[in-house]
Amino acid sequence: LKTQYLATSEGDLAIAAELLQRGELVVFPTETVYGLGADALNKNAVAKIYQAKGRPSDNPLIVHVSGIAEVSRVAVGIDPLALQLMERFWPGPLTLVLPKRSNVPDSVTAGLETVAVRFPNHGVACELIRRAARPLAAPSANRSGRPSATTWQAAAEDLDGRVAAIVCGEPTGLGLESTVVDGTDHIPLILRPGGITLEALKAFAPNIIPYSGLGSGQSQTPSDAHRNSPGLRHQHYQPRAKVIVLESITLLQHDTAAIPPQSALQLKASHFIGCTSPEPGLFRKVIVCDDVKEYAAKLFDCFRNADADAAVAIYCESVPEDGLGVALMDRLRRASNSSDNNVHS
Ligand code: AMP
Ligand code: MG
Repeated sequence: LKTQYLATSEGDLAIAAELLQRGELVVFPTETVYGLGADALNKNAVAKIYQAKGRPSDNPLIVHVSGIAEVSRVAVGIDPLALQLMERFWPGPLTLVLPKRSNVPDSVTAGLETVAVRFPNHGVACELIRRAARPLAAPSANRSGRPSATTWQAAAEDLDGRVAAIVCGEPTGLGLESTVVDGTDHIPLILRPGGITLEALKAFAPNIIPYSGLGSGQSQTPSDAHRNSPGLRHQHYQPRAKVIVLESITLLQHDTAAIPPQSALQLKASHFIGCTSPEPGLFRKVIVCDDVKEYAAKLFDCFRNADADAAVAIYCESVPEDGLGVALMDRLRRASNSSDNNVHS
């Protein structure tokens, strides 16, 4: 398959929309990460997503719409609170799990009775959905298990020759995926932390059940047994370089003489990302960010750069677990594979 590289001009988006209508795959930018899109109501098109990504068939997809009214094309019996959440947080990085309509192919939802839906806050993404005139199923535009793509070049690295077209937009602003909330019950439950923070959701829905860590692939309370997110069972976000989460970088800043020579060699062949500057010369490459927002935006690109540079490891500074820091630490732990709760398959 020869991949077409398209611009974000009206003419090129018309070409992309036509490919989608014909059941082809098109990569497009959103405010979170790049998406790998297909017609959500065409099961042959959706099957191509799993094939192109090498995605396990038990990991359901997020359906993207360009307005609240469009949700009724894929979901029915929407709880009033879920509707209020849409009105408050859409367009934006919030995905809502809703009861699915019967016309949605089983492959989109991995056989579940629910469908995940999002209205992205991104002009190009919305224009493409409108022109295609149908909801688009779109997981992150990376090969399964790899870091998500935050630039079109990263998507091309993983998917060139596997998709009909790539819409070459700007690097994504947020750089982390959406927050996934199960909205099928009047007590909403956070299934995956992401761009919309717990604090923001709580201010609006005080009874919301917070994300409970990497274990939430299992149930959080007995009554939540049926409310989980299959995707959380799978390995995610991993570069080839080893990801090492640093609880504190004090040692690396002040006491470099205390680092054993073997470790010093490993550091010299490694990259660093965080908000604090390490001792100069310790790492081959450092990315020092002003805040968690910049850190989140740069993380996946840092992973891919480290691989291009054949780095041995990527040392990632921990951040406080509030606001966007919850989602960032979740991605770091999954990438570093350090949680006992993480179930691999
Ligand atoms: P991705 O698009 O690769 O960022 O992954 C989509 C995420 O949404 C995965 O973690 C899925 O498990 C989750 N998801 C999609 N549909 C559902 C659903 N019906 N119920 C629960 N989680 C879902
Ligand atoms: Mg993904």
